[in-house]
Amino acid sequence: MKKQDFTVSTVVCEVCGNEFFIPRKSAQRRPNGHNKTVYCIKCKRKTIHIEKVHKYF
Ligand SMILES: [Zn+2]
Repeated sequence: MKKQDFTVSTVVCEVCGNEFFIPRKSAQRRPNGHNKTVYCIKCKRKTIHIEKVHKYF
């Protein structure tokens, strides 16, 4: 089986707590706790999200 080389980040909305996953290539991996502004489907607007990085084994 071919080894897959990517990580999955979880981002958590600071406003409503909604979590969702973003697949990333490992080269784009960022430190844990990175804040990013992305569109929240629950808030229906852009909010601050906290990024949690998961290592892919
Ligand atoms: Zn939200």
